[in-house]
Amino acid sequence: MSENNELRKAGLKVTLPRVKILQMLDTAEQRHMSAEDVYKALMEAGEDVGLATVYRVLTQFEASGLVTRHNFDGGHAVFELADSGHHDHMVCVDTGEVIEFMDADIERRQKQIVEEHGFELVNHNLVLYVRKKP
Ligand SMILES: [Zn+2]
Repeated sequence: MSENNELRKAGLKVTLPRVKILQMLDTAEQRHMSAEDVYKALMEAGEDVGLATVYRVLTQFEASGLVTRHNFDGGHAVFELADSGHHDHMVCVDTGEVIEFMDADIERRQKQIVEEHGFELVNHNLVLYVRKKP
Protein backbone atom coordinates (compact mmCIF):
# COMPACT_ATOMS: atom_id res chain seq x y z
CA MET A 1 0.00 0.00 0.00
CA SER A 2 1.40 3.39 -0.95
CA GLU A 3 0.30 4.97 2.36
CA ASN A 4 2.67 2.65 4.21
CA ASN A 5 5.56 3.84 2.08
CA GLU A 6 4.58 7.48 2.55
CA LEU A 7 4.58 7.01 6.32
CA ARG A 8 7.94 5.25 6.32
CA LYS A 9 9.47 7.89 4.07
CA ALA A 10 8.25 10.52 6.55
CA GLY A 11 9.95 8.61 9.36
CA LEU A 12 6.68 7.51 10.97
CA LYS A 13 5.79 4.00 12.07
CA VAL A 14 2.91 2.44 10.18
CA THR A 15 -0.14 2.33 12.45
CA LEU A 16 -3.75 1.76 11.46
CA PRO A 17 -5.00 5.26 12.45
CA ARG A 18 -2.14 6.88 10.53
CA VAL A 19 -2.89 4.81 7.43
CA LYS A 20 -6.63 5.56 7.64
CA ILE A 21 -6.12 9.29 8.11
CA LEU A 22 -3.55 9.52 5.33
CA GLN A 23 -5.90 7.59 3.02
CA MET A 24 -8.73 9.97 3.90
CA LEU A 25 -6.62 13.05 3.13
CA ASP A 26 -5.56 11.42 -0.12
CA THR A 27 -9.00 10.38 -1.39
CA ALA A 28 -11.41 12.95 0.06
CA GLU A 29 -13.00 15.33 -2.41
CA GLN A 30 -12.10 18.21 -0.11
CA ARG A 31 -8.36 18.94 -0.29
CA HIS A 32 -8.38 21.12 2.83
CA MET A 33 -9.85 19.44 5.89
CA SER A 34 -10.09 20.35 9.55
CA ALA A 35 -9.52 17.67 12.18
CA GLU A 36 -13.31 17.56 12.64
CA ASP A 37 -13.80 17.06 8.89
CA VAL A 38 -11.38 14.12 8.91
CA TYR A 39 -13.01 12.67 12.02
CA LYS A 40 -16.52 12.91 10.52
CA ALA A 41 -15.42 11.47 7.18
CA LEU A 42 -13.79 8.52 8.94
CA MET A 43 -16.93 7.94 11.00
CA GLU A 44 -19.07 8.01 7.87
CA ALA A 45 -16.72 5.47 6.30
CA GLY A 46 -17.25 3.24 9.33
CA GLU A 47 -13.74 3.75 10.71
CA ASP A 48 -13.43 3.91 14.46
CA VAL A 49 -10.81 6.62 15.03
CA GLY A 50 -11.35 9.08 17.88
CA LEU A 51 -11.12 12.84 17.48
CA ALA A 52 -8.16 13.08 19.89
CA THR A 53 -6.30 10.54 17.75
CA VAL A 54 -7.11 12.51 14.60
CA TYR A 55 -5.68 15.66 16.20
CA ARG A 56 -2.56 13.85 17.37
CA VAL A 57 -1.92 12.15 14.04
CA LEU A 58 -2.45 15.37 12.05
CA THR A 59 0.05 17.13 14.32
CA GLN A 60 2.54 14.30 13.75
CA PHE A 61 1.93 14.51 10.00
CA GLU A 62 2.58 18.24 10.11
CA ALA A 63 5.80 17.81 12.10
CA SER A 64 7.06 15.23 9.61
CA GLY A 65 6.20 17.37 6.58
CA LEU A 66 3.45 15.10 5.25
CA VAL A 67 0.77 17.77 5.59
CA THR A 68 0.62 21.55 5.73
CA ARG A 69 -1.52 23.29 8.34
CA HIS A 70 -3.31 26.52 7.51
CA ASN A 71 -4.71 28.76 10.19
CA PHE A 72 -7.17 30.77 8.17
CA ASP A 73 -9.01 33.58 9.96
CA GLY A 74 -12.39 32.78 11.44
CA GLY A 75 -12.23 29.00 11.19
CA HIS A 76 -10.58 25.85 12.41
CA ALA A 77 -7.08 24.99 11.28
CA VAL A 78 -7.23 23.01 8.05
CA PHE A 79 -4.75 20.47 6.78
CA GLU A 80 -3.77 19.48 3.27
CA LEU A 81 -1.35 16.92 1.92
CA ALA A 82 1.98 18.56 1.16
CA ASP A 83 2.16 16.79 -2.19
CA SER A 84 1.24 19.62 -4.53
CA GLY A 85 3.46 22.50 -5.51
CA HIS A 86 3.22 26.05 -4.23
CA HIS A 87 -0.18 27.67 -4.40
CA ASP A 88 -2.13 30.36 -2.61
CA HIS A 89 -5.61 30.27 -1.15
CA MET A 90 -8.93 32.07 -1.16
CA VAL A 91 -11.29 31.44 1.72
CA CYS A 92 -15.01 32.18 1.45
CA VAL A 93 -15.99 34.13 4.58
CA ASP A 94 -19.55 32.79 4.37
CA THR A 95 -19.02 29.08 3.79
CA GLY A 96 -15.36 28.49 4.72
CA GLU A 97 -14.79 26.97 1.28
CA VAL A 98 -11.10 26.99 0.36
CA ILE A 99 -10.10 27.69 -3.25
CA GLU A 100 -6.54 27.21 -4.48
CA PHE A 101 -4.94 29.45 -7.04
CA MET A 102 -1.56 30.27 -8.57
CA ASP A 103 -0.81 33.45 -10.43
CA ALA A 104 2.58 33.93 -12.08
CA ASP A 105 2.26 37.73 -12.06
CA ILE A 106 1.56 37.84 -8.31
CA GLU A 107 4.45 35.47 -7.61
CA ARG A 108 6.83 37.59 -9.70
CA ARG A 109 5.70 40.89 -8.18
CA GLN A 110 6.13 39.60 -4.63
CA LYS A 111 9.73 38.64 -5.41
CA GLN A 112 10.38 42.03 -6.99
CA ILE A 113 8.91 43.95 -4.06
CA VAL A 114 10.98 41.96 -1.56
CA GLU A 115 14.13 42.60 -3.59
CA GLU A 116 13.33 46.31 -3.83
CA HIS A 117 13.45 46.27 -0.04
CA GLY A 118 16.85 44.60 -0.08
CA PHE A 119 15.70 41.12 0.85
CA GLU A 120 15.24 37.77 -0.81
CA LEU A 121 11.97 35.91 -0.53
CA VAL A 122 12.12 32.86 1.73
CA ASN A 123 8.47 31.87 1.77
CA HIS A 124 5.04 33.41 1.58
CA ASN A 125 1.46 32.71 2.41
CA LEU A 126 -1.16 34.67 0.56
CA VAL A 127 -4.76 34.30 1.67
CA LEU A 128 -7.61 36.22 0.08
CA TYR A 129 -10.86 36.37 2.03
CA VAL A 130 -13.69 36.34 -0.45
CA ARG A 131 -17.44 36.19 -0.81
CA LYS A 132 -19.51 34.86 -3.71
CA LYS A 133 -20.78 37.66 -5.92
CA PRO A 134 -24.51 38.17 -5.45
ZN1 LIG B 1 -4.06 24.29 -0.73
